[in-house]
Amino acid sequence: MRTKLAAGNWKMNGTIASLDELDAMAEAAKGAAEVLICPPATLISAASARAENVAVGGQDCHGKPSGAHTGDIAAEMLKDAGASYVILGHSERRTDHDERNDTVRDKCDAAWAAGLTAVVCVGETLDQRESSNTLDIIGGQLAGSIPDAATGHNLVVAYEPVWAIGTGKVPTTDQIGEVHDFIRARLERRFGEGVGRSVRILYGGSVKAANAEEIFATSNVDGALVGGASLKASDFVPIIEALN
Ligand code: PGA
Repeated sequence: MRTKLAAGNWKMNGTIASLDELDAMAEAAKGAAEVLICPPATLISAASARAENVAVGGQDCHGKPSGAHTGDIAAEMLKDAGASYVILGHSERRTDHDERNDTVRDKCDAAWAAGLTAVVCVGETLDQRESSNTLDIIGGQLAGSIPDAATGHNLVVAYEPVWAIGTGKVPTTDQIGEVHDFIRARLERRFGEGVGRSVRILYGGSVKAANAEEIFATSNVDGALVGGASLKASDFVPIIEALN
């Protein structure tokens, strides 16, 4: 009942020439899974014009609809540029820009007001995992970062262990399944079974063609948020195909 989602996070990578990669991704997007690319903001307009059946998203937005915030981008501007999604609370934003749960929550409200679907990222550091705090941390991030008006349409949750991002280290499927089952239970408890069961939960952190199939077979994994392996069609298309 939940449409699988292959989401690519290009981070601070890509120029107009990189959009050539979208052609093969759009071809793969004709299958069952939905495909989303979140390029840098500079490419959102061109990306959405280029590939009709690939959804386009931002990587962040401001928590206010407009105003004197030099260098920031409002959710409505992302929408106007052709985005339908926005990644919020990615660990690189939480670390580089000191984003706290309440910041992410405000941004989520702004995204929803603009009609965007928020991909809210949660995840523990290695220290937190090694001290057996993973589920407490994830529970706190979910409670603090997601506003009350969540639905299966406006929210996607991405579980991204910080220690797995860009490192080539991947949790075991038991570890992934434990966290995804926990997130599902928390969503059901807070938002009710209907909403809780319809929100998609993505895994992110060193997903590549070689491990995608195993990860996608794990309990409550509805797709992936992919960084490095989403930049090139030759890497990302096999991941999309593993979901199709
Ligand atoms: P990675 O990044 O796939 O390069 O590990 C994932 C992410 O940060 O979303």
